[in-house]
Amino acid sequence: FRGAVTLDGPSGTGKSSVGRGVAARLGASYLDTGAMYRAATVAVLDAGIDPGDAEAVARTVAAARIEVGTEAGTERVEVDGADVAVRIRSAEVTRAVSAVSAVPAVRRQLVAQQRDLVGAADAVVVEGRDIGTVVLPDATLKVYLTAAPEVRAQRRAGQLGLTEAAQIDDLAADLRRRDQYDSSRADSPLRPAADAVVVDSSELSQQAVVDRIVALAQA
Ligand code: C5P
Repeated sequence: FRGAVTLDGPSGTGKSSVGRGVAARLGASYLDTGAMYRAATVAVLDAGIDPGDAEAVARTVAAARIEVGTEAGTERVEVDGADVAVRIRSAEVTRAVSAVSAVPAVRRQLVAQQRDLVGAADAVVVEGRDIGTVVLPDATLKVYLTAAPEVRAQRRAGQLGLTEAAQIDDLAADLRRRDQYDSSRADSPLRPAADAVVVDSSELSQQAVVDRIVALAQA
């Protein structure tokens, strides 16, 4: 396989595991753009900036050196040389990331960086929200991954080792809040590209989703 596979969709659909699985099978690089927005959020929080202050956020992110690895098998995320791969998954960052990623200047900066990283790869799987619509409109294959909200909350809970109904309800509420926020923007990225293949993973195993996308890429 040569070219780019875009993998978009809301959180909790298993996008990251699927994306890494597809990249490994295709022998392709892998770019997690959500990790870049999360890294930008770490820079904002460390600077003591209010994530709602768009101007200060834009300035802070412009001055930060955000680096992500593109190997499917390992995750490398750095801000100004510091390893933030664990911190980007914290609840604090997850709460603030929607506000940071809603700042147009931040999106312009990270989209440009994403295109540079993709341009350097022969074959690449790129995961995010707006990859097929905005970042790589000419991608070889565009996939939009969806799943029912209850299924997404259950999966998140499983990953985090949570079992209580109230905790799962909290997760579902957080997913709905982020979907709502991400889709309320004027330039909402939370919709499939016109030429995307929509894959609903509600009733499919992760392996089945990977198989389906690999087959589409090799068709
Ligand atoms: O995919 P992940 O949950 O790590 O993404 C974190 C957040 O980053 C999303 O909730 C969204 O606000 C933002 N994001 C984005 N555009 C992308 C990828 C992520 O706005 N391409």
